[in-house]
Amino acid sequence: MSILQLQFDCDQYSLPIQDDIWPGESGQGYVLRMAASNGLGGIARVKKMLGCSRFQTLCAQDAPQLAQWFGASVQRLSYALESTQGGRRVEGLTYMGHNLGRSYFLNRSYPRVCPDCVNEFGYCRAAWDFTLCVACARHHRLLIDRCPACSAPLKWTRPALCLCDCGHPWTSLDFRSSPTDGELFIAQLIDHRMDDQNRISSGASPWRFPAAFGFDLLRQFMADLSMDGLHRALFAFATAAGYESDTVPERRLRAAMPKAQQTISMSMAVGVKLTQQERFFMTSSPSVLIDLLSEAGALTPASPADLSIAQSLLGAFGTSGFVKSSKQSSLAQLVLF
Ligand SMILES: [Zn+2]
Ligand SMILES: [Zn+2]
Repeated sequence: MSILQLQFDCDQYSLPIQDDIWPGESGQGYVLRMAASNGLGGIARVKKMLGCSRFQTLCAQDAPQLAQWFGASVQRLSYALESTQGGRRVEGLTYMGHNLGRSYFLNRSYPRVCPDCVNEFGYCRAAWDFTLCVACARHHRLLIDRCPACSAPLKWTRPALCLCDCGHPWTSLDFRSSPTDGELFIAQLIDHRMDDQNRISSGASPWRFPAAFGFDLLRQFMADLSMDGLHRALFAFATAAGYESDTVPERRLRAAMPKAQQTISMSMAVGVKLTQQERFFMTSSPSVLIDLLSEAGALTPASPADLSIAQSLLGAFGTSGFVKSSKQSSLAQLVLF
């Protein structure tokens, strides 16, 4: 009898190939890896075994059963699967030990992969599940979000880590493209907040800013922010870019990866301007931006760095009261440090 024919009516059953989850490994990636090594043909089969639909995202509640089947520690697997507060993603979530106040900081449905990292380390990094992570700072390349062979979007239900439903493994058929400095900058900021940061940076020539690049101040500005604070600042910058008075607003892209790349480009442009004290005017202060920053301390435990930077940005974006009546808010007096 093949494994596919086994009936999993016994919750205590363990599959033959067992392994623990790597520090920094995505929980969904772990389940995909273990499903592939046990000949289950992918996550869809595992979801069926769990009694959930193939469209459902695996979450921390599934950890005890998954750990029983595949051999991970329940605690470590639960940590690597998304956990919602009050059962609703809109109220915030926890992923890889990071409390996140917005569900859109995470990209759980449109997987991205660095095939070089999978070749080298053998697992899917949880860092790639953050919405604004589109590049690999170790291999200086863009992540792929489509199969290099058939161009279909990657799915968590694919048969193996680097294998599409079309049957072409990405190890032999890869498509490398170059990221922008901003994309590498953000990938590195996210890496610095992940549990596998040492493994990812060791033995590699880490990406460094070009000498003339103006991101050093921005790096200092972002250095002490939590993962939530980092994302609040980046999305606040991108939102502000859409309200900049002397530029024509860009049409927002819809597909997850191009949209993330566009967000990064807008965010970096504003972030660099702010930290270099350049003049910046907005036509109005959108409520989404105010909410992003004013709720920065709502998570527990509140991070002093997040609170202080959010307060600084609220002032900079003209939302702290004294310039609110003005239609255009000058950021020239902004003090970020
Ligand atoms: Zn890589
Ligand atoms: Zn394919």
